[in-house]
Amino acid sequence: MIHPHLGGDTTERIVMVEGSGCRLRDAHGREYLDATGGLLLAHVGHGRRDLAEVAAGQMAKLEYFSSFHEFTNEPSIRLADRLIDLAPSPMERVYFTSGGGEAVDAALRMARLYHHRRGEPERTWILSRHFGYHGISYGGAAATGMPMFHQGFGPMLPDVRHLTPPMPFHPEMYGGEDPTEFCLRELRETIEEIGAERIAVMIGEPILGVAGVIEPPSDYWPRVRELLASHGILLILDEVITAFGRTGHWFAAGRMGVTPDFIVTAKGLTSGYFPMGALLVADHVVDVVTRDEGVIGGYTYSGHATGCAVALANLDIMERENLLTAAVEVGDHLGARLRELEELPFVGEVRQIGLMIGIELTQDPDTGEPLSAGWVPPLVRERSGVIVRNNPNTVLVSPPLVMSCGEADRVAAAVTDVLTEYATGRGRRKAA
Ligand code: PMP
Repeated sequence: MIHPHLGGDTTERIVMVEGSGCRLRDAHGREYLDATGGLLLAHVGHGRRDLAEVAAGQMAKLEYFSSFHEFTNEPSIRLADRLIDLAPSPMERVYFTSGGGEAVDAALRMARLYHHRRGEPERTWILSRHFGYHGISYGGAAATGMPMFHQGFGPMLPDVRHLTPPMPFHPEMYGGEDPTEFCLRELRETIEEIGAERIAVMIGEPILGVAGVIEPPSDYWPRVRELLASHGILLILDEVITAFGRTGHWFAAGRMGVTPDFIVTAKGLTSGYFPMGALLVADHVVDVVTRDEGVIGGYTYSGHATGCAVALANLDIMERENLLTAAVEVGDHLGARLRELEELPFVGEVRQIGLMIGIELTQDPDTGEPLSAGWVPPLVRERSGVIVRNNPNTVLVSPPLVMSCGEADRVAAAVTDVLTEYATGRGRRKAA
């Protein structure tokens, strides 16, 4: 088996065998507390019999049939209706996929097709953003603004331009200008340079996730949206992480007052009980792309009956157990505890929105070198069994939405112990 993100000759792998709520157990019987939600998705917690029973029931009735041409199935019709009801702005149709990257590709394809069918086939350019993550399909990887996902993989999708996102904690990136003004000016200049008549769409995460939980100033997305719309450029919001409660809302777009043309989702849609994504498409786009021979191309597993039944039951659980409210309450509790880490000399900023938390490290107090966050997750896990993740300089905490305040306290204590020890080891504190 080729394991993603595992280079070299690692002999010991952690073989997870069981889960319940936020707890996990490996093949050696060691216990863990999941503060990552797997990969930001185990919203309703692990090992739920109720979801297993729904999957078994649907499989015994009709596991799958094609959603191509004139065929469909009941769970996929009901799920599409449910997602349209939950959507923060008018959405007309849903295109189902097997995950986030496929949904990103579908959105990019549909955006180009929209302009093609409207008689503007030269509108092919895709605007995306540095530090954005959109998956590793070739379309998604091309849109992703992180060079490690491009290098060594040959030519990416052509006609993609990455722009600067606002990252208020890094004013040095904007040469003294206000970050939002800088980003809007860059967007205006880019549209002028490429020519609006050649640009199809812009894609972005409402809150940068993998890059470190970075929320833009509140006027950024509404102003971007307005500027794009004035040039006939479509907007895809990639809500693979942020949809379905992680920020305490069904969609972050609603929280930000933006009305995109497409919303890309996955992860929390099924809480990981089935690999699935869903692309929500606004009515004016649907009207155009379903003309003539319709949307060409689909995925074999689009609208998988069992996946859709599981997604519906997962959304029921989220409603019944008030997990959106829980994400805010437990998130605020955990965020407040972790924010105390800003006292440490190498902790720059602790950012928390619902149950998405990033702890950005700055530089090593001894050497002044940028401090990698890679050592934190293994140490936290070895010491306390708490599982967190990292990107190059940020510790990422994103537990299942069912995490209790008591469990959140364990997570906070585990991370705090490791980071405080690193600071005390060097005998320094920021204030001193
Ligand atoms: N977009 C975003 C914002 C993501 O965070 C991810 C996955 N982390 C993806 C797209 C890709 O989703 P998948 O891995 O399901 O293809």
